[in-house]
Amino acid sequence: MLIKKILEPERQIDVIHETDVLVVGSGPGGLSAALASARCGVDTTLIERFGCFGGNITAVGVEGFAWYRHENTIEAGGIGIEFEEVAKEMGAAVPESQSLSYELDSEGFKVVADKLVVDAGIHPMLHRSFSMPIMEGNRITGVILESKAGREAVLAKVVIDATGDADVAQRSGAVTKKMPLEELMATSVMFHLAGINKSAFLSEIRTNPQAYKDWSDGEWQVQTDGKEDNMFSPFIKKPFQQAIDDGVLPSDLKTIGGTWGAMHETGELTYMNIIQLAKIDGTDPDDLTKAEIEGRRQAILAIKALKTYYPGCKNARLRNFGMTLGIRDTRKLDALYNMTETDVRHQGKFEDSIGIYPEFIDGYGILILPTTGRYMQLPYRAMLPKNVDSLLVTGRATGGDKVAHAATRNMSCCSVNGQGAGVAAATAVKSNSLVKNVSLESVQKELKLQGVRIY
Ligand SMILES: Cc1cc2nc3c(=O)[nH]c(=O)nc-3n(C[C@H](O)[C@H](O)[C@H](O)COP(=O)(O)OP(=O)(O)OC[C@H]3O[C@@H](n4cnc5c(N)ncnc54)[C@H](O)[C@@H]3O)c2cc1C
Repeated sequence: MLIKKILEPERQIDVIHETDVLVVGSGPGGLSAALASARCGVDTTLIERFGCFGGNITAVGVEGFAWYRHENTIEAGGIGIEFEEVAKEMGAAVPESQSLSYELDSEGFKVVADKLVVDAGIHPMLHRSFSMPIMEGNRITGVILESKAGREAVLAKVVIDATGDADVAQRSGAVTKKMPLEELMATSVMFHLAGINKSAFLSEIRTNPQAYKDWSDGEWQVQTDGKEDNMFSPFIKKPFQQAIDDGVLPSDLKTIGGTWGAMHETGELTYMNIIQLAKIDGTDPDDLTKAEIEGRRQAILAIKALKTYYPGCKNARLRNFGMTLGIRDTRKLDALYNMTETDVRHQGKFEDSIGIYPEFIDGYGILILPTTGRYMQLPYRAMLPKNVDSLLVTGRATGGDKVAHAATRNMSCCSVNGQGAGVAAATAVKSNSLVKNVSLESVQKELKLQGVRIY
């Protein structure tokens, strides 16, 4: 079909701000990048389209920041661990149900992130969306933003794309890739419940515990290392199947099922990750519209099933949906080095490592938990576009193949990569070099000072 076109008129735009390092997007990747950069002592600005920092943690309600952690797990340290520690101190975290970690409170973490941003001296710019890059040849020198104030420009020496979707990279001319629609990880409408009878709910969990092997149930097949199979998982599927069998839920809703996060003293059951919608392109607003509406419809039906079929849930009430849909999988950068399945499955090692990540692979039908102390290193080059200068891409859009992304998309990995990007950007500014030529020795030295394990 031929699409009708119009010409957008040229216009002058105010430059409202200039900075050394500009981070676009404030999820685990961008927030870590901005903090790391500011702590190196360079001017750092953080842009976010919504009214809070935190990305999926706060805007979607993805609270399980480190649910992979067990006794022998080896961590990178750094800002990811700090998120948990500060959240604990500020009353914004509770013990997570399946691991030795704390679940971040999606509402409370908004305040945690505010504090971290303000304390680090970052210039905060909420409610502004990245629209277009400002380019000088193949070098990015700033961005055009869109907001209630109209279009505005911000200039920067280095830009870090932490939008999750590689928005900046793609519009700057960097090569990005997307999985075919039918292979994309599912999209979820996340929600939290109130009104649960905690003791009845937990008693049912103790009586009929679920394990990771239950994730493979006919609708889904999940490949593990075997060691995960009998470990406890806060997985919930049976009540929904029962509701379908009894005609309470329509028979086409077989994909309802997944995990809950924490059962609170206050009767809240949070981080309900049970609505899975296939074949949604998170860069297509029409798909996003469809998924928001369909996801909310399914969530209400799921709550109906829980009220009827799950002990402790009779008086369950929807506390809130995430502010926006949860998107797992969109564009990835075609980077100077794209991480591979071999790297994440076999403890990849890199001279340009900017941090380690435990062997945690979750996605595309694979679940491997880091229970044995194995870990991979993360290469700096996976954040460098091949053909755009002064730009780094961090968070879930770093370069890698399908299985590599099942590891690197995880929030604490986004945080390790983000911290690496932030330090590299600041080091480049201080040494007046391009990010692609920055001294790796200096970057690694600074990261170690910031508490990151590199090798
Ligand atoms: C439902 C769901 C459940 C998940 N469960 C887990 C889990 O249990 N554990 C785990 O570790 N990971 C989990 N993940 C994966 C994880 O949440 C993401 O991969 C991770 O948050 C990605 O981090 P990020 O910083 O790259 O991007 P995001 O967290 O997506 O943050 C990107 C930020 O950029 C902003 N932004 C985007 N575009 C623009 C723009 N044009 N202008 C300005 N701002 C912009 C967004 O508003 C957002 O704040 C889950 C994901 C989903 C969707």
